[in-house]
Amino acid sequence: MLNGVPVPPDRASAARTVAAVLAAGGRVALTTHVNADGDGVGSEVALWHLLADRGVTASIANPTPIPERFEFLVPNGADHSSRAAKEIEAADVVVVLDISDLGRLGDLQHAIKRSHPVACLDHHVSVGSLPEGPRLVTPEAAATAELVFDLASAVGWPLTPEAARALYVGILTDTGAFRFANTSPRVLRIAGALLERGVDPESIYQSVYASAPEGRVRLMAEVLQTLVVEPDVGLAWVTVPPDALRRHNATADDLDGIVEYPRSIAGVRLALLFRTIAHGRVKVSFRSVGDVNVAELSHRFGGGGHTRAAGASFEGPLAEVQETVLAAAREYLRGR
Ligand code: AMP
Ligand code: MN
Ligand code: MN
Repeated sequence: MLNGVPVPPDRASAARTVAAVLAAGGRVALTTHVNADGDGVGSEVALWHLLADRGVTASIANPTPIPERFEFLVPNGADHSSRAAKEIEAADVVVVLDISDLGRLGDLQHAIKRSHPVACLDHHVSVGSLPEGPRLVTPEAAATAELVFDLASAVGWPLTPEAARALYVGILTDTGAFRFANTSPRVLRIAGALLERGVDPESIYQSVYASAPEGRVRLMAEVLQTLVVEPDVGLAWVTVPPDALRRHNATADDLDGIVEYPRSIAGVRLALLFRTIAHGRVKVSFRSVGDVNVAELSHRFGGGGHTRAAGASFEGPLAEVQETVLAAAREYLRGR
């Protein structure tokens, strides 16, 4: 337990299989799901540092650009997402972080070949659809960053302050700043170990949550205006007006956290956020409290996620998707 928190034996043995393909030299490409979040970016940046410290050159190759709010974590020259498909094709090993579904890699799914091992570190409930490779996957982990921490601990890789900072961002963002149900005693111990490595929580808070462009706040104000609440079933939802991102010069990352507002209303058990995305598709974010299982609900629509936070994407138009999803949500809530 090099980094101060013991690693369960099954995780440690899975970690060793992942480390074995990484330590073999060669080119390593690191990637995560479309619209990377703090856990995706934090996990890949931490692994980038851990590998660099061992003389292994890695390259970050994501399907969509790294959101501005996480750029402070990314070392110079590490991010090659603008030519991600080429990086993945040229790699000897690919590490997929924070997702097990090939489909959530967007256009990059076609670059992943069966010829190179695809290692995966993830904490989603859904069964993966990636090609063969070593896996460190468990839904019990609060964040993928927890599993990168376990990998380092299990194989004796010391954490530098840079790697610790990236892991802290992953844990902070995926636990909703230590508020959500996945805030386990273990992940708090890990956060403590990361602070002992020199992480400055106030400066991280500042970078992640308190450096917003004005448009993010104006966008939030506009989206919150659309709130609808159905107290009899415990349902609430908001809708992003189709051209709102453009008008506020915002990105998908700026919507992060808005769905917490409908969820925060007393008596609401299921909260939804609807928005149009590229190719006339509609994305729905599902959030729940208590025993409402949104992983189950989103699976019905080909989506995935965790029990209290999930998502799915649909063929438009928006009004029809809303009708379908709201009908399913009401029926689901009435049944429990
Ligand atoms: P989001 O609503 O985008 O914040 O995502 C909440 C959770 O659901 C995350 O764990 C995502 O990885 C997962 N998720 C979001 N969208 C999809 C999708 N289209 N298909 C499968 N899982 C998704
Ligand atoms: Mn994620
Ligand atoms: Mn995650």
